[in-house]
Amino acid sequence: MLISRFAPSPTGLLHLGHAWSAVLAHNRARAAGGQFLLRIEDIDGDRCRPQFVEAIVADLRWLGLDFAEPFLLQSTRRPAHAAALRQLAEAGLTYPCFCTRADIAAVASAPHGVAPVYPGTCRALAQDVAAARAEREQHAIRLAVDRAVDRAGRLVWEDSLAGEVLAQPELTGDIVLARRDIGVGYMLAAVVDDGFQGVTDVVRGRDLFDSTHVQRLLQALLGLPVPRYHHHPLLLAADGRRLAKRDRSEALAALRARGVSGPGLADRLRREAPFGPDRVLQLDPV
Ligand code: GLU
Repeated sequence: MLISRFAPSPTGLLHLGHAWSAVLAHNRARAAGGQFLLRIEDIDGDRCRPQFVEAIVADLRWLGLDFAEPFLLQSTRRPAHAAALRQLAEAGLTYPCFCTRADIAAVASAPHGVAPVYPGTCRALAQDVAAARAEREQHAIRLAVDRAVDRAGRLVWEDSLAGEVLAQPELTGDIVLARRDIGVGYMLAAVVDDGFQGVTDVVRGRDLFDSTHVQRLLQALLGLPVPRYHHHPLLLAADGRRLAKRDRSEALAALRARGVSGPGLADRLRREAPFGPDRVLQLDPV
């Protein structure tokens, strides 16, 4: 059975771009007689808010997108995330990292807007030194990507944006598997939970395309099935900027308050081609 999912983080109100992702994921499941799942990615307790979870549910209902109940709160999956982390550690594929953001920024240079690739400072620490420091200092856990790639070999995934893609996890470097503050990170949690939920089709914006390289690697290391990927273009604000959760005026909740029809909007989004360049969506006036 085809299983798709929509996996927002409740750190703000959803905008049109989220609605398009949700509509495309919902459609894919509906067309195949499959299931559409909602997963709330709320592992970051400091930034996530219950009122945004409620708003996400209200937005999906307003759009007319039914999802399987109960939906999954990712924060309930901590034991599984920890088990996956242990599995990778026991395979010798992780190391503790004591660097602060400032340390990394000082040595790594990155083009504007792109997260710097970690320069590997803590990978060079002797194992006993690192283990002793890890006893007393807060630290993140990183993936030793070169070792992981050696272990996993050549990997590909099927993407409706780019066809068969060769995974190149080196592009994002030694990513953080577990943040120092919350003990887990987006990449690991998403992969473990896609596996747990039996997701066969990941539909999301092309801004997450690059994450797929390392997610594909994690699937191989953890023995998880590989979904098909459908990365779609992004919707832009009228002035060409990327839509952002912090712009309340562009939120779905604001459209709803202005009297826009949710099912009407969902139909409009269904007519939009899910490939080609990023674009501004022309909505009919209400
Ligand atoms: N939680 C992520 C976000 O809101 C999306 C994760 C995914 O689709 O893989 O950007």
